[in-house]
Amino acid sequence: MKAVQYQRVGESPVVVEVPRPEPGPGQVLLQVTAAGMCHSDIGVMSRPAEVLPFELPLTLGHEGVGTVAALGAGVRGVSEGESVAVYGPWGCGVCRNCAQGKENYCTRAGELGIRPPGLGAPGAMAEYLLVDDVRHLVPLDGLDPVQAAPLTDAGLTPYHAIKRSLPKLVGGSTAVVIGAGGLGHLAVQILRATTGARVIALDVADARLELARKVGAHDVARSDESAPERIRELTDGLGADVVLDFVGIAPTVKLAAQSVAIEGDITIVGIAGAPLPVGFGLLPHEVSVASPYWGSRAELIEVLDLARSGALRAHVETFGLEETPEVYERFHAGEITGRAVIVP
Ligand code: NAD
Ligand code: ZN
Ligand code: ZN
Repeated sequence: MKAVQYQRVGESPVVVEVPRPEPGPGQVLLQVTAAGMCHSDIGVMSRPAEVLPFELPLTLGHEGVGTVAALGAGVRGVSEGESVAVYGPWGCGVCRNCAQGKENYCTRAGELGIRPPGLGAPGAMAEYLLVDDVRHLVPLDGLDPVQAAPLTDAGLTPYHAIKRSLPKLVGGSTAVVIGAGGLGHLAVQILRATTGARVIALDVADARLELARKVGAHDVARSDESAPERIRELTDGLGADVVLDFVGIAPTVKLAAQSVAIEGDITIVGIAGAPLPVGFGLLPHEVSVASPYWGSRAELIEVLDLARSGALRAHVETFGLEETPEVYERFHAGEITGRAVIVP
């Protein structure tokens, strides 16, 4: 089968021929129908060899949807031909967090060598994907695979990030979305669908601001040094109750700190890792800061339900498997608005 692999540090991914996997006991083989392209893939491919947490080659793709092609011994609960989304942050399934469906916070995955598909295990940018356990699958129940693929991460991650702040996102509140890309444009829609907040989206690219407005942002503004003042203007000087940073670089975490209200939340989702000084006098009083990772399996079910109700619509551009290396180049150059989805 064909697969898109990152083979050598610093080099572009390539399309290669690899053996089609066979499902062992407990495993499920999917024929991939759609795989989303995430900025975290670029993060992974920008890392020097010393800090790459897994071995190469790696088949990319951690947003996967497919139809069940074959079941390993003992698998029950899905049937051949069924369309399913893959819950990506695989855990051990046994620890306390996994028992609550929070496999994204599995305490034993590292020690057991369990990694998400596309981020250590072979991923979804291939004709077939091997899934380790049927519990990682959520039936699509009528959702379009191309729409559903981005929801498994670009939808689930903002959904989880927003959920922690729901009590603050009452009528009259304000949420700021920094970075209206793959995750951010879905964050705007999740905020609109699940909260009473006024939504302000910030970006550095006009196309992303246009998209943010199209999908429901009340206001959009350029993400620059004037943005905190603009946000204060729009909030009667109070600042934003919740700031979601989908970039995480020094200028955006600074912007978040300057825009947040007293008792507000700053949630850093972007993985750039810029530090945010926290301490008395460094932020408005009682601001809470979090850096969440992905989301729970139950939340993925909620996101897909929300999409089925018509509240979420990923803005996608589709490509064939052979085009993937070139699409990564375009994505890296900032030429993709919304989400690129590979259809093998
Ligand atoms: P993307 O490239 O689709 O979107 C990023 C957006 O940020 C783009 O629209 C870009 O124009 C905008 N941007 C760049 N610089 C900016 C600035 N200074 N101010 C405002 N906007 C700016 O990327 P994505 O796939 O949506 O991923 C977003 C981030 O989230 C990445 O860092 C990715 O690695 C991370 N991520 C984190 C998790 C998690 O679990 N924490 C999960 C998925 C992705
Ligand atoms: Zn991702
Ligand atoms: Zn676990």
